[in-house]
Amino acid sequence: MLKDLISIDTTVPPGLNYDKAIGYLEPLFKKTGFDTQRLLIPVEHAEGREGRVNLICHRREKGKPRLIFYGHIDVVPAEGWDAFKPRVENGKVYGRGAADMKGGIVALLLAMESLKGKRLNFDASVMVTTDEEFSQASQIQYLRQYLEPVSGGHFLNLDSSFGYVSIAGLGVLQLDIKVTGKSVHSGLSHLGENAIEKASPLIQALLDLKHKVEQRKSNVATHPDTKLNRMEGRLNINMIKGGIKTNIVPDECLISVDRRLIPEENLEDARKELLDTLATVPGVTWQVERVYAIPTVPPANDPLIDQLARIIADTIGGGNKFGEMGSGDLSHIVATWGCKAFGLGVIRPECNIHGKEEFAYLQDIEDVAKILARFLSPQD
Ligand SMILES: [Zn+2]
Repeated sequence: MLKDLISIDTTVPPGLNYDKAIGYLEPLFKKTGFDTQRLLIPVEHAEGREGRVNLICHRREKGKPRLIFYGHIDVVPAEGWDAFKPRVENGKVYGRGAADMKGGIVALLLAMESLKGKRLNFDASVMVTTDEEFSQASQIQYLRQYLEPVSGGHFLNLDSSFGYVSIAGLGVLQLDIKVTGKSVHSGLSHLGENAIEKASPLIQALLDLKHKVEQRKSNVATHPDTKLNRMEGRLNINMIKGGIKTNIVPDECLISVDRRLIPEENLEDARKELLDTLATVPGVTWQVERVYAIPTVPPANDPLIDQLARIIADTIGGGNKFGEMGSGDLSHIVATWGCKAFGLGVIRPECNIHGKEEFAYLQDIEDVAKILARFLSPQD
């Protein structure tokens, strides 16, 4: 099944063969007892792009806890390897999307197949989406109407790590700071103002703040692979642009700051802290050019999430709950729906997602299928 799915090249951009991939999956979900609904996302919800075919599947059971599974069929582009000719070697399936995240969809289908004819513990739905690797926020919002009720529900993201329950994410605050000066010939630099050199004390102030920010430890634990014990704040200066020629004093320098917030922090305080830090530097003219933000995703605490962690421990060992040192739109969106978002998938650090020779372990897919089956119908 996974090899079939990988063979359908669903690269985005541009978003190839979505109808074909959904056409392949729909009967498989039907076979395991789901009512299915193929939806064409209106272009105005897909940033003008056409052919965004999504799939919503239901096994509704009124009165039981609401559970919505999330997956996406699109993959990032691949070059320089046979990414769409899947092969199995030493217990690994190689191919683009094997771990991110066609393998996760297959795990869910395997779980459902093993539960065929049985009742679930949940009022369950599945969303199989497109353009996750591009921009799908508006598509997700559009799909909400087909998933009601969502408020108070649980949202299980299969586009996630293997071996533990993902329960939190970092917030994001990105600022572009434009430093301005006065452009003159290099030989007359005493008459100008060098924007790059003026940016230097600002960068130094930001590095002092970086040091402070990195001392901030969350109460939420992280996976040992991160080489951290707990989630930590981050501040990085990841881009700098300035100057047009070696003999011209530059009148502009743009510094791009990427701040990541632990769940205990909030965007407003982080923004104020950054701007206050910059304001301590005298004699530099600067302004904020661009702001991009995603709120923090606080840890989802819930008996059902604890139950999933126990089933993981019982099935494969470990079975902890960890926060991710990453950020995404999705958890934030479903938080605004009133859903508790958590994640379990087949992604491991060595799976090389988005890289060459991406793979997933066959055993991981089977293990996740077993875990999900027990979660969905644990009395059996
Ligand atoms: Zn993904």
